[in-house]
Amino acid sequence: MLKVPSKNKCSGCSACVSICPVNCIKLVEDQEGFLYPKVDDQKCVKCGACVKTCPYNNEQKGQTDKKAFAVINKDQHERMESSSGGVFSLLAKDVIKKGGVVFGACFNQDYKLEHMAIDSEKDVYKLRGAKYVQSDMNDAFNKAKEFLDNGRLVLFTGTPCQIAGLKGYLKKEYQNLITQDIICHGVPSPMVWRKYLNYRTMQSGAKITKISTRCKKDGWRRYSVAFTFENGKEYERQHDLDPYSRVFLKNLCLRPSCYSCNFNGDKRLADITLADFWGIEKVQGEMDDDKGTSLVIINTPKGEQAFNDIKENVVYIKVPFEDSIKHNPSYHISVVEPNNRTGFMQTIAQKDFSYAYDKYAKDSFGNKTKKLIKKIFRKLFRR
Ligand SMILES: Cc1cc2nc3c(=O)[nH]c(=O)nc-3n(C[C@H](O)[C@H](O)[C@H](O)COP(=O)(O)OP(=O)(O)OC[C@H]3O[C@@H](n4cnc5c(N)ncnc54)[C@H](O)[C@@H]3O)c2cc1C
Repeated sequence: MLKVPSKNKCSGCSACVSICPVNCIKLVEDQEGFLYPKVDDQKCVKCGACVKTCPYNNEQKGQTDKKAFAVINKDQHERMESSSGGVFSLLAKDVIKKGGVVFGACFNQDYKLEHMAIDSEKDVYKLRGAKYVQSDMNDAFNKAKEFLDNGRLVLFTGTPCQIAGLKGYLKKEYQNLITQDIICHGVPSPMVWRKYLNYRTMQSGAKITKISTRCKKDGWRRYSVAFTFENGKEYERQHDLDPYSRVFLKNLCLRPSCYSCNFNGDKRLADITLADFWGIEKVQGEMDDDKGTSLVIINTPKGEQAFNDIKENVVYIKVPFEDSIKHNPSYHISVVEPNNRTGFMQTIAQKDFSYAYDKYAKDSFGNKTKKLIKKIFRKLFRR
């Protein structure tokens, strides 16, 4: 019977739930807000399908022969609305044009993040943009299998652990499946996200009507987080000043399994990997205008075909693979769990967002002063 040996050995991918022939496994939220499988012992027929399907029990190795490209979507609107260079939108539109279906992470009406399927170009915007919270897979794996078995082309996108879960669940190669993952720093807790949304709603006194997690109007590197509210109020902060982004970037609220990721580096199974091309100014300066450049890593011939099919809509340059990930350690290294993570997570589970933030993530007076001095120096000596 399925038993999660420890919290860092479950990514909550939902493969066990999807494969269960008697529907006796549910994903249940723990105190930190992450989903873990719970088996109904009364219903379980002990067939072992869940154990065999779990990607932690079936480690597969991805391909090691990689090609890397710096890529920019020629459509400026799509690019500015995307987190990096806007490559995802082109892959999605191409699959939809061919009659296919695209799976990706989308906010529902309450800004809970869920995986959903789209098959219309007008809905691509729903999946566009990085959302920094773990996505609930719901029944995405079952739905994808149904489309695949019916011969429909499917583009399935997500984190490396979600792609490993899908592959473990499907158990066979489908010619009509293209998988795309991201370089992933780690996924934050949905409970922390909910508490932050409550905090923003309380501050503005009205319902949220729009969220942009990567607003690039002041630049790709200086991106900000922006909210719009029903009463017309707006909130916008550069990411290093926004409390939620600070908690995320300090690694205080990531899923336990993210601190020892089993699916990054060459273990990733996706056909194509997308990321921010951090360090592009040092590798290919002409591909950097601070509006966002994507790093596209081709992992398989199918990934290469998918990239070839969108090439006329992008500006691109091939780069040596090792150079492409030099400034993006999350490609193969998991982030370190900070000593105060447990304290932060226990506190936020009991109290509200601002209390936990002030206690664990707010800058001290000394740090704020240091940052201010650095900012002044940067302004004075800017070329
Ligand atoms: C939690 C998280 C951590 C990341 N960490 C890094 C990093 O360390 N280094 C780096 O270079 N890039 C990282 N990225 C990826 C990067 O921000 C862009 O998403 C990626 O470069 C694709 O950009 P794009 O412009 O082509 O497409 P966009 O339109 O910006 O991205 C859309 C794609 O991202 C997927 N997506 C969005 N949010 C989620 C989510 N929460 N879970 C699963 N899939 C999601 C959508 O399904 C879709 O496939 C991270 C993204 C997320 C969501």
